[in-house]
This record gives sequence, structure tokens and C-alpha cells, in this order.
Amino acid sequence: MTLKNRYEAVINYFKTNVPIAETELHYSSPFELIVAVILSAQCTDKRINQVTPKLFRDYPTAEALASANSDTIFTYIRSVSYPNNKAKHLVNMANMLLNDFGGVIPSEIEQLIKLPGVGRKTANVVASVIYDKPAMAVDTHVFRVSNRIGLTKAKTPLQSEHQLIKHIPEQYVATAHHWLILHGRYTCLARTPKCGDCNLTEWCQYFKTKTINKKYPHSLSHKKLDSIKLDITKDTMTKTISSKKTAVKKVAAKKVTPSKTTKEVKFMTHSTSLKVGHKAPDFSAKDQNGKTISLKDFKGKNIVLYFYPKDNTPGCTMEACSLRDEHTHLNKKNYVVLGVSADDEKMHQKFATKYELPFSLLADTEMSIIKAYDVWGKKKFMGKIYDGIIRTTFIIDDKGKIARVITDVKTKEHGKQILSL
Ligand code: SF4
Repeated sequence: MTLKNRYEAVINYFKTNVPIAETELHYSSPFELIVAVILSAQCTDKRINQVTPKLFRDYPTAEALASANSDTIFTYIRSVSYPNNKAKHLVNMANMLLNDFGGVIPSEIEQLIKLPGVGRKTANVVASVIYDKPAMAVDTHVFRVSNRIGLTKAKTPLQSEHQLIKHIPEQYVATAHHWLILHGRYTCLARTPKCGDCNLTEWCQYFKTKTINKKYPHSLSHKKLDSIKLDITKDTMTKTISSKKTAVKKVAAKKVTPSKTTKEVKFMTHSTSLKVGHKAPDFSAKDQNGKTISLKDFKGKNIVLYFYPKDNTPGCTMEACSLRDEHTHLNKKNYVVLGVSADDEKMHQKFATKYELPFSLLADTEMSIIKAYDVWGKKKFMGKIYDGIIRTTFIIDDKGKIARVITDVKTKEHGKQILSL
């Protein structure tokens, strides 16, 4: 397998299976993001999300933080790693932001790294998340996972960054950072990677060299190892490798508690409570051009009102492009297409311009439309359950009634999916 093939296979896998990948840090402004990322060095996102709500409530801007005393900030962040240094960095960072950058978070890496507490990794996160730049932030997970898979042969994070940037298409760089982090956080763990649960074995060099040789002494080939099955019984976990000739049956046996096997609760993604025949809730919001769009503007038209998680993410881009490509056909059938997400007008404008989207994207930053259509709820991603926008499309008829609710959205061919109704 060539390096090019490996990159293509891994990117395709993530594009298809992990269409939404974003930071797990909570923030609502560029300023909050830079503060959260500075705090997250050598600390977990979970811990940072516990301390930032109070900090952001009392110090919501660079001005507020710049006027604070670092000893006071320390009391807010004492439970994170290196609280003394980080408290000083935050206050100094806010001061430099005001004095040298007019209070605006810079977009260039060279400028970002001048800010106290901001290293190359933090600068890359800020540049990619806030400014949508193809910057690859290499943290411990990205470094480990990309080396293990064989995407990189790096001894330092900087080498890793350069190698990844060289091979990953620009439009996927920012998302690839999150793919690799999440894979490292939940599957390719530092001490014991969960290769038995991983779908990248076919392309992973670590799996090929280390795992096969050490854990599977009979040197099974990739294809044979694809048939690994986990048989979990009440008392034991037995990993059975089924192969035509291989005699290896029990590779590992380890006690597990019955609660993990017999009491497992199946997670169900939230689904809207609106049904066919219900009156479509009214809405009014600005689109990417600052124009106010309301449901009542479209009397006599059929509306494709589609809710999507986030601009510029792979799944949402595929969905938008599919609707763009079928837009003429949809218009001929009297459909008006409207997209809705919680992104702001500026983000929508960038997204719509980049992909030449011929329809309105509504900036529902207050999430009033999202809530009215009941598409906010629990989702599962990489084994983690969190709240977010559930990808859903409503077809509203010319009388303002809901004619269809599509919850199994096929992002790549959503336009065709609607035309085939
Ligand atoms: S196969 Fe194992 S080592 Fe390779 S990416 Fe998956 S979990 Fe990591």
C-alpha cells in the first residue's frame, strides 16, 4: 500500500463514518475559545468545560480579563493543571490582545504565537476553528495516532504537522485534526489501543506489525483478522478469530462484570416530535446576505427546510452540494430550499460562497427555529453522547403543513432523495 492509498483510505473512512467532528471544548466566541484552548494544555477538555462557565460569566471579554488580577483568576481555574502559570498567561494574553491587536484575535500563526500561553498547537486550533484555515494542530493524540497508522513518520509534533499538511487535502485538514483526536481519545488509546474495535486495521501499520506479531502469534493476515469477533458472555470476554484453517480460537479471556453485558441500554438518537400533517412552526431569521427570511414569504410554494449541524463540515458540505446540484430540478417542482443551522451569518456567507450555494442558509444563532422544529437533542458520536442538531429535513407543503419528515438523510444524494419522494 502506498502512502497516498493509505491517506485516501483513512480520509474516506472518516468522511463516511465520522462526518461531524469538532472540538469538545465549550465556547461561544473566539475569545472564549482561545481562553479554553490555553487552559486545555496538559488537561482534559472535560475538566476545562467544568471551570470555564464561571470564568466566562465573570470575565466574558478581553477587557474584563485584562483588568483582573492573576491571583483572582487562579481561584477560578485551580482544578486545572498548572493553574498558577495559566492564570498569569490568561491575564497577560488579554492585555496583549488589547494593546497589540486592538482586542481582535489574530488569524496568522506567527502573530498568535506571540500571545502569552499560546504555543503552536493552540495557534493552529484557533486558526482552524475561528478562521477556517487549513492548520493542523498536533496534540498527543494526533501525534500518536498518525504515527501508528503510518500517515506520518515523525519524531516531533512539528514534523507530524508538516507531513499531515502535505498529504491531507486542504478542505479536510481542520476536520482531520478532530478525527485523529477523537480516534485517539476513544479508540486508539495511548497504552492499549482498542484494535479489536477499530475499523482502520486494514490500513494501520501498527496493527500490521505490532498487534499481529504479539497478540496473534499465528501471524494472521489482514483479511483473516477482519473476521475477529468479540463474543461477550456473562462472565468472560473471549475474543474469537474465525478463519477457515486457523486453529486460534481463544486469544484473550478476561473477567467482565455482568452489568456491562446484560444491562446495556441501547442509545436512541433524539427524533423530532413534529409529524406529517402538523402546521409548520413559523420562523423568521437572517440569511447569509442579511436578508430576513420568514415562512410566510413562501405561501403557495413547497419548502425544503433542512437542518444541519455545522457549516463546512464534511457531511453538511455533501448535503448542501447535493441540494445545490439538484436545485434547478427542485425549483421546477415548486420547491424552495432553506438550510438552517446555529452558525452565524458570516459563517453562512463563507460556506455559501465557497460552495456556490444558490439558496438561503438561515442563521439560527439563538436556536429558536431549531427548538421549534424539535431537532436539538442527544446524539452519539465516537462512543460519546452529547447534545446537538439532529440532521433532519422537513418538506412543507404550499398550505404550510408538514408533508414529510426525513430523518434518514442521505447527505451525498439528498437532492435526489427529495426528488424521488
Ligand atoms: S488498528 Fe489499533 S493501532 Fe491502528 S489505529 Fe486502530 S486502534 Fe490504533
